[in-house]
Amino acid sequence: MELRLYDTLTKEKRVFTPIDPSNVRMYVCGPTVYDFAHIGNARPVIVFDVLFRLLRHLYGADHVTYVRNITDVDDKINDRAARDFPGLPLNEAIRKVTEKTADQFQADVAALGCLPPTHQPRATEFVLPRADGRTDMVTLIKQLIARGHAYEAGGEVLFDVQSMPDYGALSGRRLEEQKAGARVAVDAHKRNPADFVLWKLSSENEPGWDSPWGRGRPGWHIECSAMSAAYLGGPDGKDVFDIHGGGLDLIFPHHENEIAQSRCAHGTPTMANTWMHNGFLQVEGEKMSKSLGNFVTINELLNNWHGHGWPGEALRLNMLRTHYRQPIDWTLESLNETHKMLWSWCEHLDGVKSISAVPDVVLAALSDDLNTPQVVAELHGLHRTKRKAELSAALQFLGITSDRQRLGRKVSATVSIAGTSKVAFFGKAIDDELIEDFVARRTEARARKDFKESDRIRDELTAMGVVLKDGKDADGKPVTTWEIAR
Ligand code: AMP
Ligand code: ZN
Repeated sequence: MELRLYDTLTKEKRVFTPIDPSNVRMYVCGPTVYDFAHIGNARPVIVFDVLFRLLRHLYGADHVTYVRNITDVDDKINDRAARDFPGLPLNEAIRKVTEKTADQFQADVAALGCLPPTHQPRATEFVLPRADGRTDMVTLIKQLIARGHAYEAGGEVLFDVQSMPDYGALSGRRLEEQKAGARVAVDAHKRNPADFVLWKLSSENEPGWDSPWGRGRPGWHIECSAMSAAYLGGPDGKDVFDIHGGGLDLIFPHHENEIAQSRCAHGTPTMANTWMHNGFLQVEGEKMSKSLGNFVTINELLNNWHGHGWPGEALRLNMLRTHYRQPIDWTLESLNETHKMLWSWCEHLDGVKSISAVPDVVLAALSDDLNTPQVVAELHGLHRTKRKAELSAALQFLGITSDRQRLGRKVSATVSIAGTSKVAFFGKAIDDELIEDFVARRTEARARKDFKESDRIRDELTAMGVVLKDGKDADGKPVTTWEIAR
């Protein structure tokens, strides 16, 4: 089966041909570890996990190398370390922040059904030359200076964008346009306003490494050029690999600058043959932000979002119902619907062994630039036609377990009535007493015209699979009845 992928650089969907089919190589930019990952961060992780699974299927599990880095040097990390561990020496505080956050990230994405990548290098381990000789940042920067692509000025080492004639090809931002449109004051030490930092000096209370340019720390982009070359160098000694991915906010400047660094340091015509970018996720129709109050972490979703801990399988499937290049609107309604859909599929799979091979229709849809909405349509078809073993195999292949024990929805203790932290499962006996209490609280809220609260409670009940009916009794008094949604 031919795999076709959309490439951001050439703006076309092309047949994917690996440089070396015995070692297909993919790099995806990973998290900056200073805080819980949000559900937007989960999107590239899930999307490229599906691609990883497909590549392993097509080329063999031992013939795919997937690298996803961990960014553990960043000024946001320094700020967080100083805030959270004010009594500790900075380096120790930074280590605590990054280790805790990285562990949390691994646990979160494992709950979303993602396989661990082949390598997950941490940036701080690739700053200085290494005992094992794998590519490091300081050596790359030295190469860029030696080849005339970088210069030292004003306490920084900068990449000289004018030394690269086709700088800007990925994002379509040519240098002339950038100059014409540049309103920002040019930093006096830069030859060109678009020149970007490879290395900068650190003050005493910033993390730093001793380098030929003084004690300092790397710029953001150089770490990915180093870690991709460290693990994905080709058999011909050329540092070109197959697929590079991330969210579309990374196209400029991050990926543009990775390309500039890698190509100029290695003297190659390209960094990766296919550039893939996932679209953005928003929540309930709005950009996710702390100030709007709609910022939602993976961890919250797994433990308590709108009154429930949602199974990772439902979160994963909900993400895959939208094509990866489209924007996705993450809503309670769609998640609810996805969860019910998955539940209804799995209701019939108890005891079914997925002996059957992954159905061709599923592989064909995935091979068409990861057309996961089409995959979901095919899963519906398998369910409708009772092809249980195939449905089970397809779900397993997508990283979704069909075990109903795991698909229940936890009613969170925080929304239940004081003193009763009951746990009910969707599809099983939902606690009548608990629901009755929700309904009573909603009736009270309606009586005092607090419709925001009454709507919120109704949403929580909807999320539990409970449907409300508002009516009037014989005396015209409002009454609410409920039933479990079928
Ligand atoms: P960051 O930690 O911000 O560098 O992001 C890690 C990854 O998550 C990158 O690939 C980003 O492009 C991606 N990402 C961040 N926010 C969103 C979002 N709202 N929707 C989709 N992807 C996102
Ligand atoms: Zn990167």
